[in-house]
Amino acid sequence: MEVVYALWLLLAVGCGSLLGFLFARHPSPGRRIKSQNFAAAEFASAFALRDTQPDLISWIFCNTPITIWSTDEKLRLGDAYAPLIEKRSGVKMETIRGLTLHELFQTDDDNHPALAAHRRALKGEAVSYETEWAGRTFAARVHPWPFDGTPPRGCRGVAIDVTEIRLKDEKLHHLGTELERAHADLQRFAYAVSHDFKEPVRMISSFLRLLETKFQDKLDEEAQEYIRHSIGGAKRLHTLVDSLLNFCSTANAGVTKEACDLNALVGQIVSDVAMSVQARQASLNVKELPTVQADPTLLSQVFRNLISNALKFSGDKKPALVIETKPHREGNLVLVRDNGIGIPSEYLAKIFVPFVRLHSRDEYEGDGIGLSLCARIMERHGGKIWAESEPARGSTFFLLFPKPPTPA
Ligand code: ADP
Repeated sequence: MEVVYALWLLLAVGCGSLLGFLFARHPSPGRRIKSQNFAAAEFASAFALRDTQPDLISWIFCNTPITIWSTDEKLRLGDAYAPLIEKRSGVKMETIRGLTLHELFQTDDDNHPALAAHRRALKGEAVSYETEWAGRTFAARVHPWPFDGTPPRGCRGVAIDVTEIRLKDEKLHHLGTELERAHADLQRFAYAVSHDFKEPVRMISSFLRLLETKFQDKLDEEAQEYIRHSIGGAKRLHTLVDSLLNFCSTANAGVTKEACDLNALVGQIVSDVAMSVQARQASLNVKELPTVQADPTLLSQVFRNLISNALKFSGDKKPALVIETKPHREGNLVLVRDNGIGIPSEYLAKIFVPFVRLHSRDEYEGDGIGLSLCARIMERHGGKIWAESEPARGSTFFLLFPKPPTPA
């Protein structure tokens, strides 16, 4: 809509000058308008353009889907000019001269957008509206005439054919609705599947354990080995199902934003992971952090995932973490930096996709859900997360929180 009106404004300058050609009954208004309304100023500059660039004005009309018209105070059409629209609609402008707007739009409805707008224009208002005519859609604006502030004796209108734009809008809207529905279905499906998988997986695990303990004497070493592998697989499946369930419920949880002091929020997580920090002889440097508008429960998950990843993917080094903030023009930027194994550049975007892992479970424990959850949570806060990294030297995760809207 904004694009249409921006285009409309641009074209209004050109249209106004043509109005000048067509409706030359009144003297050039540019000189006598007291600039008490925007429409008058708009048309004044258009008339100035008419005098300096007449070729440009006719070029605009022959190549853009603009129409201009005049009406008297009884809303009877005077002149209308629309070369390109004539070509598209097949309706010659001279055939509609003298029709009332009721006749033109073949309606008795006084609330028809064009009729309502013209009536308001006759009361001295410039009005924008959208209407259908000759099978096409127009974004239009009608002004009271004359432009000198004396009581209106008619209207001057200008419109642009937006049929194709509206068709694309509709298609886009339709696609958006379809996409939303498909997304909701998929979420429901993932939730149902992960929920319903839990029970059979638990059953498989417990029967395998029974088999292992009850028939220990009867099974040879090879059979016991197979059972151990199966129990391991069932356990992993159970963890995956749990993670998927966690992803579905957290990713779709309601977001209740409040002022979150990140110093307190991160401080709490740091004290929760104190044992594993000590065990890994890690250093954690948390600098002064901002307060952001966020859901504290969801945001804690983000920092918990990032901190535990930084501790986990440290390779042979003692983990060294820095959490700090840097200025950013779009909002509050928080950085979580580590000195770990790093991430090859071709995977920097993929690590935010659910279940994508760059290492086997034997190397590093995990299920590949943490970062996708972080991305989803940041997205739901209107923010962003991304990573930069240098393999073998460390990674930095960036969290961008949008600026709160300024009160009107
Ligand atoms: P998980 O930690 O369970 O594997 P994540 O979704 O948290 O799952 O991370 C996805 C993958 O991204 C990890 O398996 C790892 O390969 C990579 N990754 C995440 N954080 C880091 C980090 N700080 N340093 C190096 N690699 C990382």
